[in-house]
Amino acid sequence: MASPAEKAPAAIQKDNVEGSTILPYKRESSSQTDEEDAKRSRIVSPFDDLNIDDDTILHKVTTRNLCPQCNKMMKYFCYRCFCTVGMDRSEIPFIKLPVHLDVIKHEQELDGKSTAIHSRVIANEDVDIHLWRNMPEFESPERTLLLFPGPDAKQLKDIPRDAFDRVAVIDGTWKQAKKIVRETPALQKFQKVTIAPRKTYFWRYQQLSENHLATIEAIYYFYKEYEEAYENSRGRYDNLLFFYRFFYNLIQEKYRSGTKEFCHRHRQGYIQYDASSDQKQQEDTKGSAKEEPKTSGESKSPE
Ligand SMILES: [Zn+2]
Repeated sequence: MASPAEKAPAAIQKDNVEGSTILPYKRESSSQTDEEDAKRSRIVSPFDDLNIDDDTILHKVTTRNLCPQCNKMMKYFCYRCFCTVGMDRSEIPFIKLPVHLDVIKHEQELDGKSTAIHSRVIANEDVDIHLWRNMPEFESPERTLLLFPGPDAKQLKDIPRDAFDRVAVIDGTWKQAKKIVRETPALQKFQKVTIAPRKTYFWRYQQLSENHLATIEAIYYFYKEYEEAYENSRGRYDNLLFFYRFFYNLIQEKYRSGTKEFCHRHRQGYIQYDASSDQKQQEDTKGSAKEEPKTSGESKSPE
């Protein structure tokens, strides 16, 4: 989480990844098969309406594999080399971004937990990840956008397209991100850009509001708003959430199946249970309010 959207107004803007609902289990005719029943009781993912490729290939990866470049054991992709692991690069989507993205990462943000890496893997020609202390000098800071909220931040719709060449985003906790901006004079020359307030689907708990997004969500919404502001298209950059949706669904699945327990560090209502588990959710929520959680649920790359 690094690039929180601004504090939400009373009415949070509706977006097409919002409004996830649970389809009630209801048998309409006795001829339905178990398979149909299963489909019917399936949770509707908040990502269902997005233009994200099928991720069957990710479900086939059940173990860690050797990264072909660094020989470390990794799952899905290598967070050091940014290549796919256990599958061919051609088996996952590729996105060409209209503006180069520079991710500035706080040294303490753990590699394996960073969602910004998803963008580096998917849009591999257009994303660079830099450690904050080794950040390169930007040639034209005044022509670089910094995705960061604040009173001086504008939305893309209010910025002419010919006013910028690149965009930078900070990857780290909100506290780390603020420190980076405060202590980096170069970043203060960047034009601040912000995105409309949106609700996060992040599973890694942070104590701010639900409008503080995971870094990949902020990146995705930036390009979505780019598309709305300058391109007459829709869904062109949705695959930025290819891994995020997969991990989100995987986590939801684990909690629903009882492999992991719900704890109060998760935003209430975050974990969607099917109708038969409503009771369990209420009990869990009640119980967890009394005791400190033992599990943090902070894993960004569940396995
Ligand atoms: Zn590697």
